[in-house]
Parts: sequence; structure tokens; C-alpha cells
Amino acid sequence: MQLLIATTNQGKLDEIRIILDGLPIEFFTLRSFPAVGEIEETGQTFTENSRIKAEHYAAKTGMLTVAEDSGLAIDALDGRPGVRSSRFNGETYEEKFSEIYKQLSKCGGNGSLAQFVCALTLIDKEIIFETKGTVEGVIAAEPRGKAGFGYDPIFYYPPHACTLAELSREQKIAISHRGQAFRQLRSFLATWQYETHRR
Ligand code: IMP
Repeated sequence: MQLLIATTNQGKLDEIRIILDGLPIEFFTLRSFPAVGEIEETGQTFTENSRIKAEHYAAKTGMLTVAEDSGLAIDALDGRPGVRSSRFNGETYEEKFSEIYKQLSKCGGNGSLAQFVCALTLIDKEIIFETKGTVEGVIAAEPRGKAGFGYDPIFYYPPHACTLAELSREQKIAISHRGQAFRQLRSFLATWQYETHRR
């Protein structure tokens, strides 16, 4: 079986590869399909965007395709940056963090609860599996840690008393939104592959 993991984000890819490691599946990334352009993420929810991406890349490549859409939703900011996490304020994460701290101070929301969310869609001609993973934490008083990617340094995870950027990749995957969603995909693929081969 061959599976296209339809993301260009290296941080996500590194995590997904570890989670799906050991499955008897040949993995492809979008690097194998340089002519396939990106698609605009016009959805209002993580699930809508995940479907838009999976449908686009599956149609363009003809492959069994998994896409995900993920991001950070901050309670005191009414769920922002949410589906706009990668496009939120500025090019660098320093810029994004300082805008978040500015907005939190303005609304008295320092230390707000927040969730990382990951919606995932698997397409084989049509949608055959969808799921979502969520991890709850709080916005750290200041960015901390060098591991991970994106918003990890400002996401404080109380059970480990540190930010996600202070965890190893394996520790992060064990509790993260992406870890939860892709472990469910892993179980689905293992069974689906078995059923498909029996027919
Ligand atoms: P997408 O490509 O539209 O799904 O963008 C997701 C964005 O959400 C990423 O570029 C990051 O900014 C953020 N994000 C998603 N997952 C994580 C994570 O595990 N850690 C930190 N930031 C994340």
C-alpha cells in the first residue's frame, strides 16, 4: 500500500512519520509531486480545511491521501488564531507570539486556556476516514523551549509543567493533538489494509 502524506510542513511530517512508523506502507510526500500546486484553505473549520486539502491532493495525484489541518485556539481570543494559525500576524513566530501577548493583555486574558486541534481526512477516491485530536493547555507567561515547531514555545502543558517546545518529539507525540489523530489513523489503516487484502 502507498500513502501520500499531504503536508509541506516539515515539523508535522517529522511527527507523522514517527507515529505511522512500522506500518507496511510506502509513504510519499508532496516532494514527489512538485507540479501539484497548493490549494487555498478557505474553510471555516479545521475539518473543512482538512477535507479541502485531502480532496485536492488526492484528485491531482490519484493516490490514497491523508491531509490534516491544525492550529491553536485560544479561549480568551475567541478561538484565534484558529484556522488562520499559519497566516496569523507576521512572517516569524516571534511576531505571532508578540501579537498574541498584546491581544491577551488588552482583553485581560493572560494565562488563557488554549487548545491545539488537528483534523485529519483520508481519501481513497472518497473520504474513508476522518478524525480529530485535541490537547488542552494554557498560554505560557513567556515563550520557552527550542524543540518542536510553530506555537509550541507558548503552549504550556500543566501535566508536564513545561511548554511543548520543552518536550522531546516522542513526549510531545504521546499527548498531542496530532499524536491522537494519527494514532487513530494508524489503527484504521492497519485494519483497512487487512480487510482490503482479504477480499
Ligand atoms: P496548516 O498548514 O494550515 O494546518 O497550519 C497549521 C499551523 O498551526 C502551523 O503552521 C502552526 O503554526 C500551527 N500548529 C499546528 N500544529 C502545531 C503544533 O503541533 N505545534 C505548534 N504549532 C502548530
